Amino acid sequence: MSETTLSKITDHVYWMSPGEPDRPSLCAVVGTNRTLMLEAGASDAHARLFLDALSAAKVRHPDYVALTHWHWDHIFGAAELDVPVIAHWQTAAEIAIQAGYEWTDKALYERVANGKEIAFCADNIKLELPEPRQIRFVQPDIVYRDSLDINLGDVQVHLQHVGGDHAADSCVMHILPDKVLFLGDCLYDAIYTPVRHYTTKKVFPLLDIILSFDADYYVEGHTPTVMSRAELMTIVDKMRMVGKIVDELSADEAAVKEAVTAEMGTPLDEDTLGFIQTFIAGQQL
Ligand SMILES: [Zn+2]
Repeated sequence: MSETTLSKITDHVYWMSPGEPDRPSLCAVVGTNRTLMLEAGASDAHARLFLDALSAAKVRHPDYVALTHWHWDHIFGAAELDVPVIAHWQTAAEIAIQAGYEWTDKALYERVANGKEIAFCADNIKLELPEPRQIRFVQPDIVYRDSLDINLGDVQVHLQHVGGDHAADSCVMHILPDKVLFLGDCLYDAIYTPVRHYTTKKVFPLLDIILSFDADYYVEGHTPTVMSRAELMTIVDKMRMVGKIVDELSADEAAVKEAVTAEMGTPLDEDTLGFIQTFIAGQQL
């Protein structure tokens, strides 16, 4: 993945692209009155990189930060920001659980062994934050149930809980008039499970909600480009098509591949193969 850079993607939105080892997208939504940061980052260093980039661009620093979900790479930078944290109640509940854990390598891999953590995250935490590791958890200051609207001046941000397979607490942020939808990781597959997977039961309603927002720009947690509506639709169409076929043919991988190939009329690309595997895994749960 390329080095993280800060760019202005619309009139009010600055985006820092995702980076190594597993740093997600960060945004600043800048209004005439206030700046809202989206995601706290993977560490103090990641948060500081973002703040320094804002300073260099002469952008007002965040007045508060809103989280999309509880996963470590989205929350560990919160203390460095030193601003009120806004989160869904389920995100707040999970942060309280994480704050009670020990964060040595030994404790981290014990949790991997007993199923409370996954190796992918433990390995990336080690890379982002080598031992000795001090993680300063921040319990959210403002907690909402379904949605929350924030007026920053000439720009409004609507925070909406959407759930999905990736994390039950997933929320998106809709920014108007810029027509940006900040997706966090909500469209990705379930990772905190023995097998990565998608279920049509959760994905199909989620896709309907995502498409119901009036947006032209889509920012995902770990996707290194800002997507247009057309680019998002390409992904959505593939997910809907594969999910429907897997529902019909169950877990018969060869039959699913044949049906999907016939439907697409082209050889299976990497994305589609990934969706086939993850939707089948979801069927087998
Ligand atoms: Zn995540």
